[in-house]
Amino acid sequence: MTNQEYEVIVIGSGPGGLACATLLQKRGTRTLLLEKNNMLGGKMMSIDKDGWAYDLFPHGQVPMRGSAFEAIFAELGVSDEFEPALEPDDPRDIITLCYRRHDWDRYKTVTQKQAMDDPEPFFSLWDASEDEKVQALTVMTEMATMPDEEIAALDNMTMKEWLGERVVPAPLYNYMGFHANASLAEPLDLVAASEQILIMKQIMLQGGGGQYKGGFGMLTKVMAREFERNGGTVVTGAKVDKINVENGSVTGVETSKGSFSAPVVVSSAGIQPTVLKLVGEEEFDKSYVDYVKGLAPGWSFTSVRYFLSRPVMETAMYAVWSDDSWLDTERFRKQKEGKEPEEVILFMCNHSFYDENAAPPGKQVLVSGTVCSPNPDASEIEGLWNCMDRQMKELLPDIWDATERREYNGPREISSLTRDAVLPGQGGECVGLAQIIGQCGSKKPKSETSIRGLYLAGADAGAAGMGTHQAALSGTEVARLVGHCLNKMYKAQ
Ligand SMILES: Cc1cc2nc3c(=O)[nH]c(=O)nc-3n(C[C@H](O)[C@H](O)[C@H](O)COP(=O)(O)OP(=O)(O)OC[C@H]3O[C@@H](n4cnc5c(N)ncnc54)[C@H](O)[C@@H]3O)c2cc1C
Repeated sequence: MTNQEYEVIVIGSGPGGLACATLLQKRGTRTLLLEKNNMLGGKMMSIDKDGWAYDLFPHGQVPMRGSAFEAIFAELGVSDEFEPALEPDDPRDIITLCYRRHDWDRYKTVTQKQAMDDPEPFFSLWDASEDEKVQALTVMTEMATMPDEEIAALDNMTMKEWLGERVVPAPLYNYMGFHANASLAEPLDLVAASEQILIMKQIMLQGGGGQYKGGFGMLTKVMAREFERNGGTVVTGAKVDKINVENGSVTGVETSKGSFSAPVVVSSAGIQPTVLKLVGEEEFDKSYVDYVKGLAPGWSFTSVRYFLSRPVMETAMYAVWSDDSWLDTERFRKQKEGKEPEEVILFMCNHSFYDENAAPPGKQVLVSGTVCSPNPDASEIEGLWNCMDRQMKELLPDIWDATERREYNGPREISSLTRDAVLPGQGGECVGLAQIIGQCGSKKPKSETSIRGLYLAGADAGAAGMGTHQAALSGTEVARLVGHCLNKMYKAQ
């Protein structure tokens, strides 16, 4: 083993793989990072083209303070580069909330400063009575102050069930339905209460929805730079076709750019692609293969990006929902049948708010997204785009005249950029595996596998929380596990 060039091969340069690789290399482990795309970052990739520069997918970090990335930057010795794009006391209005009650004709809009700083604008949005304010504050306070072990005990309870045991004003209930869709890409009636409450708590106590100077792409750039600076090797355009296993241990990988060997392989290509395709069912117990096949993928997001000749959006974000537009399992089933909806939830991000260089001078770039099926062949997507464009015109009437170009994205593009669809209806997931009961906390797939030297990193294994943070936490934990594994291997020699 000691004569091998690499001690560890990491597959995939999203936040999970990159966090793991950069920490391993920093700790002196000879690491090879293989990425099938020509650019690094996975879903946390930034685009910089023709004067436009923006993050492709993630738009909001939760938590803003104390995220997995903050700890990674500290270990890498580059904390000074970890700069939020907004100071907590930024005087500007940051978020526009747009809400329509079932019996209202139109959306009502309020703007507020940092998320959850002051609940009054949120209450005024739905004309809350004094009783409703007290009820809502009671529920929000319970979430914000819930000890971690109590949160963990809610792995097997849905958020709908948890809310059902409390007095919750209808508009707050509907907001939680929107939040489950927008922050977790899940339905309220399946999402694990532990996951949603953890994220709500982090937003309220550690800040949420913010960005960094240089966007999420800065995280990718700095981690990749430090990885190489510390001696790590990156090969892009290298699609791993096979993870080699001999006598129950990994030995290396076959890629479009040749074979590489190492006693440890960390895959962030997704649990289902890794187990069912890259390694192959025959190397695992049938019960594990059945378990992996039965895991539900999370929902996807489909988005429209608007390249504008002049600014039309003033705040950084728009959150748009009504009592009727957020999706539970039943509404999702109807949406999947392909009938064009009258309205959808929207989460919009104004890249130009965070970064003056996101668009050429005087112009603006923003993106608007809604939840959809993770199926790369989903038939409902075009109908959703029509609906999103219609709603955008209603909310920002100037947008049409100012649009130079629109770019449409959905599960097909997400899948081709990140994870293979190895099972029907899977591949275009937004976060990764669904954060639903039976798949979270103690039931979350483990990063360790039955194959010696094979680990799973990223949003599918070993961690909790919102997308990029969760994936980086998982990568951090896998770096620790791999360190132990290599020590044991060296001792056994
Ligand atoms: C539209 C959208 C919006 C989102 N918004 C947010 C948000 O606001 N906040 C947030 O925190 N999260 C958000 N997320 C979720 C977040 O981006 C993901 O949860 C996170 O990127 C998952 O990280 P990962 O490392 O597990 O996987 P990925 O980021 O998917 O990275 C996996 C990497 O593995 C590579 N790979 C796969 N197969 C192979 C192979 N065979 N060979 C070589 N390389 C391979 C892929 O190319 C990719 O680079 C969003 C995602 C989407 C799609």
